[in-house]
Amino acid sequence: MIRLARRHSSPRRHTFSKDLPINPLFVRELTEGVPRARLRSDGLGPDLAYQVIHDEIAMDGNARLNLATFVTTWMEPQADRLYAEAVDKNMIDKDEYPQTAAIEGRCVRMLADLWHAPDPDTTIGVSTTGSSEACMLAGLALKRRWQIARRATGAPTDRPNIVVSSAVQVVWEKFANYFEVEPRYVPVTPEHPTLDADGVLAAVDERTIGVVPILGVTYTGVYEPVAEIARALDELYERTGLDIPIHVDGASGGFVAPFLEPQLDWDFRLPRVVSINASGHKFGLVYPGLGWVVWRQATDVPEELIFRVAYLGGDMPTLALNFSRPGAQVLLQYYTFLRLGREGFTAVHASAQRVARMIADELASLGPFEVIGDGRDIPVVAWRLRPGEVRPWDLNHLSHELRAYGWQVPAYPMPDAMSDVTVMRAVVRSEFSADMATLFLDDLAECVEVLERHGTPPPVHPTVRESFHH
Ligand SMILES: *Cc1c(COP(=O)(O)O)cnc(C)c1O
Repeated sequence: MIRLARRHSSPRRHTFSKDLPINPLFVRELTEGVPRARLRSDGLGPDLAYQVIHDEIAMDGNARLNLATFVTTWMEPQADRLYAEAVDKNMIDKDEYPQTAAIEGRCVRMLADLWHAPDPDTTIGVSTTGSSEACMLAGLALKRRWQIARRATGAPTDRPNIVVSSAVQVVWEKFANYFEVEPRYVPVTPEHPTLDADGVLAAVDERTIGVVPILGVTYTGVYEPVAEIARALDELYERTGLDIPIHVDGASGGFVAPFLEPQLDWDFRLPRVVSINASGHKFGLVYPGLGWVVWRQATDVPEELIFRVAYLGGDMPTLALNFSRPGAQVLLQYYTFLRLGREGFTAVHASAQRVARMIADELASLGPFEVIGDGRDIPVVAWRLRPGEVRPWDLNHLSHELRAYGWQVPAYPMPDAMSDVTVMRAVVRSEFSADMATLFLDDLAECVEVLERHGTPPPVHPTVRESFHH
């Protein structure tokens, strides 16, 4: 158990042998080693190749104990069977797999309907490898729309900017970098813990391609106030004629809010919202590799971003960064839609939320903690040490101690203006039961006791920023 912890926090002292060690049970004699990072001249038998990899991945962490990730780690056996039947389907091959393509279209319309698009049947949207690709496409559409509108009036089209909070997921930093848009980060502070109307109005100008509130901030799980931001931008438009669209990053919340907070105004009910992304593989309850982006109406995507390719047969319009991509996850999304319906999604997410709220309620009695995300939006709990509390240990030590029990719970600094505050976060996924939460809370209490008893433990490397950005 200790080994698990050490593996991640310090450089390795010993080097591995050049060849993979092969258990003599599987094969008595290999004339040649099995190099780790070079092709062997001849191949292994299928059983041995399977066994070698099977044994190595057994040393990965236990996904059920990973409270850092948002990504689904369990589906029903029927979904597994469907997955195995569909692994060969290539999403781009819409001519060869017209039913898979049709099912993708149905999922887009279901999401458009869930997010209150004015006319779900004529909207436009696509599946992607995850919210990251979805955000890139949505950001690109914003940039092109802005450029087209500027060109039409003879205004310069250089130096576009995008307005986000400093607590954005890393994908928006990537978007800005890769597609050469100036990122304007509105700092989150104790007074303004999320992006809000004041922050947005102070940052936008005539070169702003869009504003991106997050439904379920990665750091705390809290929803940013989309309706308030939309209202401020509506007023700005009336006052100045500046017409700045909103894209909602609903990576987590896009699959949660429609079920747990159906009255919350955050989606296409707000005319200013032009596009929304969500991760099928987070609260969409599908294995990794799936995201979605939907636009309010087809005209919100500039025609020049859509390619028509003839070389797969047919003449298929495509809007994607990737060409080939697995189609199986799309079928799994359709499976969850058919399987759960609105009631099922509500029941599953409500149950995760109850577990999150239970953890949030208990935390204060277990140690000097202040809860800063209590699971009321997405089922994520975030906490910090109570301000002013002087302890010989901090949350990095606690994260380290929890590892010895197998739990992966990240501790990380808040973004820039609040980087002196370290928070710890637990993502409650549907497969994390109330019983597991009870075990977790017991282990957490024990870790706190150990830290209190032992005085100053050795310093621990803080979790690097990138590693929790799921
Ligand atoms: C997870 C996440 C992303 C990136 O999504 P992937 O599906 O992992 O590519 C983007 N934005 C937010 C708010 C997220 O939580």
